[in-house]
Amino acid sequence: QIEAIASSMKRSFHLYEKAKEVIPGGVTANIKYFAPHPIIMERGKGSRLVDVDGNEYVDYLLCYGALILGHGHPKVIESIMRQIITDGTTVFGAPHMLETLMAKKIIQAFPSMEMVRYTNSGLEATLLAIRLAQAFTGKTAIAKFEGHYHGGYDQVLISVNPSVTEAGDEKEPKAVPESKGIPPQYTDETIILPFNDVEATEAILRKHKNRLAAVILEPVQGGFIPADAIFMKELRAITKELGIVLIFDEVKTGFRITYGGAQTVYGIAPDLTALGKVLGGGFPIGVVGGKKEIMEQMDPRRGKDALSIETDKANKGDVLFHSGTYNGHPTVLAAGLATLDVLQQPETMPRLLQMTNMLREGLEAVYRAYGIPMKTVGLGSIFNIVLTEQDVKNYRDLTKANMKLREEIDYELLGHGVYTKPGNRYSMSVVHTEEDIAWTIEAHEKAIRKVKNR
Ligand code: PMP
Repeated sequence: QIEAIASSMKRSFHLYEKAKEVIPGGVTANIKYFAPHPIIMERGKGSRLVDVDGNEYVDYLLCYGALILGHGHPKVIESIMRQIITDGTTVFGAPHMLETLMAKKIIQAFPSMEMVRYTNSGLEATLLAIRLAQAFTGKTAIAKFEGHYHGGYDQVLISVNPSVTEAGDEKEPKAVPESKGIPPQYTDETIILPFNDVEATEAILRKHKNRLAAVILEPVQGGFIPADAIFMKELRAITKELGIVLIFDEVKTGFRITYGGAQTVYGIAPDLTALGKVLGGGFPIGVVGGKKEIMEQMDPRRGKDALSIETDKANKGDVLFHSGTYNGHPTVLAAGLATLDVLQQPETMPRLLQMTNMLREGLEAVYRAYGIPMKTVGLGSIFNIVLTEQDVKNYRDLTKANMKLREEIDYELLGHGVYTKPGNRYSMSVVHTEEDIAWTIEAHEKAIRKVKNR
């Protein structure tokens, strides 16, 4: 597979060699690396990416799901230009009107939210949500699910992709750190739960209830493995009973699964929600939203001497600190508001879901024709190709699929103009066309044939 992509990617290879000299591994996020070298991109347009060698791809990575309108959507470009030109600044560094406008739009779409705060990334949003829960409950431990990703910081960079041998019993998985440099107290203070297993989850939560501030989860694991409806219902009931804050990490699913989030589809209200990706219209954003009584812990007026100019005299103990130079950035919000406008047009979401299903069905038919056990797993406009015939309900199920074959096919696909990081999920945009879908299905067929003939 290495030779197959190398011959058409000489310039990428050359530029990557240069990047490596000044950037560790030549990538600005570890996940952007893949062997033999990542492909260096030059241009984007709608559903397509063009690399520095002039190869064109139908893009299904879509900046890890963020680009629901595809690359350079005219409404987004127009909105950010208007913001910069009419406001006369790229950033106010002070409150401005788009902040409240966007807050209201989010709250309308997410009935569980009464208030919101902005951050600059999904990672910061889940971090803030966890701190809010810890302050609110006065407890310090959290529980997360095996295989769920919430950002790359110490508290949650645990058991995202652990070796099954290390993680042990699937009914009571061990906490396995995913990086060097995570101090051991985090693996003590982060309890790991098995997704979609009501009984085992309940047993672990009861065992640790006195020290658990929060349960955080991706209601749709990795954006593609949906929680069972009954599992969600039970999880809501038990966290309520035990006084544990329930946090939905909808960074991936927010405004992607539907206009709203997984919570809209399931009809379950978490206490706090983290959003990001789609909401930034291709720019960095994160949002935390939820119940007023939890969110108001951040109200700076809660300081006893908040009016004192001698701020060091303010009673900091009553206020939860949250800050960020670029929080509520106007250009980002302008891009996000334009994105929501397009998503709210009545034909947009149904078409997006219809196109996603068309692609899923087409791909399933190809793999079936070649006798490869495969299913597409997903909800809304994200899905993944899992090479298995078994049910896929959680992380352990994924580890049983044929990942090696999947990656071999994905490498071939890169040579046939279908872009996603090998092994990654497929995200769709509203600008993907029937032609893109036909191209993608044909590319899979060619890739499968090539791999089978090896
Ligand atoms: N939570 C989930 C569910 C995510 O998918 C991601 C990003 N992949 C994050 C949090 C972190 O978001 P960001 O990369 O914007 O920090």
